Amino acid sequence: VLEERVADHSDGFDRIFKAFETTGGKITDLAGIGHRVVHGGDRLTAPTLVDDATIKAIAEQAPLAPLHNPPNLLGIRIAMASFPDTPQVAVFDTAFHQTMPPRAWRYALPRDLADELRIRRYGFHGTSHAYVARKAAEHLGRPAAELNLITLHLGNGASVAAVAGGRCIDTSMGLTPLEGLVMGTRSGDLDPAVVFYLHREAGLSVDDIDDLLNKRSGMLGLAGANDMREVERRAAAGDAAAAEALEVYCYRIRKYVGAYTTALGRLDALVFTAGIGENSDGVRAGVCQGLEHLGVRLNPNRNRARSSRPRTVSADDSPVAVLVVPTNEELEIAQQTLAVI
Ligand code: ADP
Repeated sequence: VLEERVADHSDGFDRIFKAFETTGGKITDLAGIGHRVVHGGDRLTAPTLVDDATIKAIAEQAPLAPLHNPPNLLGIRIAMASFPDTPQVAVFDTAFHQTMPPRAWRYALPRDLADELRIRRYGFHGTSHAYVARKAAEHLGRPAAELNLITLHLGNGASVAAVAGGRCIDTSMGLTPLEGLVMGTRSGDLDPAVVFYLHREAGLSVDDIDDLLNKRSGMLGLAGANDMREVERRAAAGDAAAAEALEVYCYRIRKYVGAYTTALGRLDALVFTAGIGENSDGVRAGVCQGLEHLGVRLNPNRNRARSSRPRTVSADDSPVAVLVVPTNEELEIAQQTLAVI
C-alpha cells in the first residue's frame, strides 16, 4: 500500500503501472481490466465489454450520477489508451438491482414525466450486495436459490437489499445514493418537503441543499463526526448527541429489516458487511436489539469476536442466521470481468 499525492487520474494510473513493474508483476500478462461504474441506469444491466457504444451509453447516464460517471469514463479512457489490446469491462453498481419488480422501483410520480426523465429507484452497492449474498449462501452451505437474505452494506455510504433466491427484490437507495439509511454524511430518507422548506424558509439554493443533504447530514450532521469509531467513542464518553445519533442510525436499519422481511415473506439470514457492518459489534447489537420477534437472536460473544472471515454471530437456536461477511468489490469486479472476457 502506497499513500501519495497524485495529480490526476492519468498520473495515478502511471504510478500503478510502475508499481506493477517494480514488484516484478508483468503487466503484459493482464487478461482484462474491470472498471467499477456507478450508474448504469436501466439500460446497462450486466457487466459489459467496453466499446464505443458502451462509452456512449455510460456518458448518457451522467446526468443521473454527475459526480461519478464522468470520472469513471476518464479512468476507462486512460486504461484504454495505455492498454489498447486488453479487453476492458464495465461493471455497474446498479446492475444487481435491476431484478426489482416495478412495485419496488417505481416512485408514485406522474408516469409520463417519470418515464421520460427515467426517474425511478435504481439502487447502488450492487456489486457488494451480490458478492456477500453469494458468500453468505456458501457459508451456510445452502444453494443461493433457496435462501431469502437481507444484506446490510454499512460503510460511509450505506444501503440494504432484500435478496430472494439470489435476486434483488428491493433496496434502500433510489434514483441516487441519497435515499434510505442514515449514512456518514447523507441524510437518507426524508420528507421531500424538507427541501422546499429549506429553500423557502432558510433561503438555501438547490445546490446548497444538495450539498447539505449529501455532505453535511447523516452522522456528521447528527453527531459532529462521520467516522463511526469516533461517534462510538463520543457516545461511550457520555456525549448525548452521539448516543442519539447511534439510536437513529440503528432504528432506521431496523425499520428496513422489518419492511424487507415482509417483502421476502420469510427471512433466513441477515448479513452485515462493509466498514461498519464488518467491524462494529455495537452497531450490529444495536440493529438486532428489538428484532427478536422476527427470529433474530445474536450470540454476544460471537458478535464481539473479531475476524476477517465470513462468520455466524447469531445464537445456535436463532431461527434467522446473523452473518458477518467481509465484502470484496474488487474481487467481484475481477471475476465478473473474467466471465465477460
Ligand atoms: P466506503 O463506503 O468509503 O467504502 P467503508 O466500507 O470502508 O466505506 O467503511 C467506512 C466506515 O467504516 C467508516 O465510518 C469507519 O468509521 C467505519 N469503521 C471502520 N472500522 C471500524 C470499527 N472498528 N468500528 C466501527 N466502525 C468502523
